[in-house]
Formats: sequence, structure tokens, C-alpha cells
Amino acid sequence: MSLEDQTCVVTGASRGIGRGIAEEFGRCGANVVVNYRSSEAAAHEVVDSIEDEGGEAIAVQADVADYDAVAAMTETTHDAFGPADVLVNNAGLTVDRTFENMSREDWERVIDVNLGGVYNCTHCLFDDITDAEHGRLINISSVVGQQGNYGQANYATTKSGLFGFTRTIALELARTDSTANCVAPGFVETDMLDEVSEEVKEKILDRIPLNRFAEVEDVSGIVRFVASEESSYMTGQILAVNGGMEW
Ligand code: NAP
Repeated sequence: MSLEDQTCVVTGASRGIGRGIAEEFGRCGANVVVNYRSSEAAAHEVVDSIEDEGGEAIAVQADVADYDAVAAMTETTHDAFGPADVLVNNAGLTVDRTFENMSREDWERVIDVNLGGVYNCTHCLFDDITDAEHGRLINISSVVGQQGNYGQANYATTKSGLFGFTRTIALELARTDSTANCVAPGFVETDMLDEVSEEVKEKILDRIPLNRFAEVEDVSGIVRFVASEESSYMTGQILAVNGGMEW
């Protein structure tokens, strides 16, 4: 599954799932844009690790919730590697509260990044993806968007919102042979899961038939397939990567 000479933008690639995807793309020969918001040193480490394995990458700072910053990232991408072929909307955050304790600010912060960021990045790179030979839009959703999750009304709303967005963009891209798909991981061993208490983690594990949390590699391999030419006849889909959880 070569991504030779493909320009791939991965948002939120300084750590966690985004880092794993960026490194996987690098190994497949892509030119990788490693986006980050605040973890500059970590993003440069990702670039170094891609280059150490013979790949090409640049780190680009941009808060995906800021349209102008994303427009500037698009220009930097064009200057370094030309138009993008693949966009992975991975950047995301959680601000967990039960709904009765959720302020308007808690709600908006998550919507602004997890959905507003997806608008900004997709809008800025839309022409690139439609013009690409095998353009790929890949949105990282979550099993929480499918099932809901206690204390995550804001987050679940953004992650299920991606389903309607993906299916609609898939229709709008179809005439160009480019595709849009969602990858919906279950619970993955990253900093995001570290925020969950051990007690809640035990309860989550009981709901996972494979009886383990996902490793980043469980997700990045699927994303690599979706980004590749081999997935050309698949669009508008939700790929659940969740250890067998029902939804
Ligand atoms: P993570 O370890 O917390 O990493 C989040 C990444 O997103 C970091 O690189 C962070 O950059 C970046 N980011 C956050 N806000 C940003 C912004 N406004 N602009 C640009 N970058 C931003 O998270 P993760 O677990 O890898 O999750 C990645 C994606 O997978 C998210 O969309 C999440 O919802 C989804 N997901 C995660 C899980 C899970 O269990 N971990 C399960 C299902 C889905 P900085 O470090 O520079 O701030």
C-alpha cells in the first residue's frame, strides 16, 4: 500500500493516534505534514522519526479551530510539497462533564475544535482533494459518536456529527473519484485515555469483546489502507475499529 509521492496532512499529529498515522504514512513514502497546536518539540520528534526512516515531513503549527491559521498551514503545505492528496482530520479534544455541569464554554470549546476544525481543514484543502488523482478525506470519529458516553455530550455530538459530514462530502466528492470516510476507533491507549480513571477503564474493558484497549497501530494501519489506492471503491463509510463493541 504505497503512498509514494502523496502529500498527506495529518492534524493533531504530535502525539497519540495522529502521530501513529503520520509515521505510518512516512513509512509508505508519503510527504507528511505533521500538524500540532502546542506540542512543538513533540511534533519535531515525529518529523525526525519519519526522516530517520527515510521519509519526508514538516511540522506545521496551527490551531485547527482558527481558519486563518489553517489557511496559512495550507500555504506552507503547498510551498513544501505541493497540493495535498490526503487529509486526516484527527485533531480532537475532550472536556468531560455531566450535562448538567457542562457550561456553554465547555460545549463550544469541543465543538470548535472537533467540528469547527474539520470544517476549516476540509474547506481549505477541498480543492486539493478534488483535484488529486485519488483524493482522500479521512475523519477520525469514535465509538462514542455511535454509542454516546456518560459525561461526554459535547464530545459525542462532535463525533457523531462527523458521520453526516462524511457521508455528505462523499457524495459531493464522488464525481471527482476522491473519497471521504470515517474511522471510528474504540478506546485507544493515548494521553486522551490517560484522563480516564482506573475504575472507569475497568468498566470499559468489560464492554470490549477483545478484552483490551486498542494500540495506536491498530488504528493507523486501517487509516493507511483508507488512504491508499486500494480503497478506491469505498466511500461514505464508517470503519469501526473497536475490538468488537456493538453500536
Ligand atoms: P491525544 O493523545 O490527546 O492527542 C491529541 C492531538 O490533537 C495532539 O497532537 C494535539 O496537539 C492535537 N490537537 C488538539 N487540539 C488541537 C487543535 N485545536 N489544533 C491542532 N491540533 C490539536 O488524542 P488521541 O487519543 O490521539 O486522539 C486523536 C483523535 O482520535 C481525536 O479526534 C479523538 O477524538 C479520536 N479518538 C481517540 C480515542 C482514544 O481512546 N484515544 C478513541 C476514539 C477516537 P498538541 O499536543 O500540540 O496540543
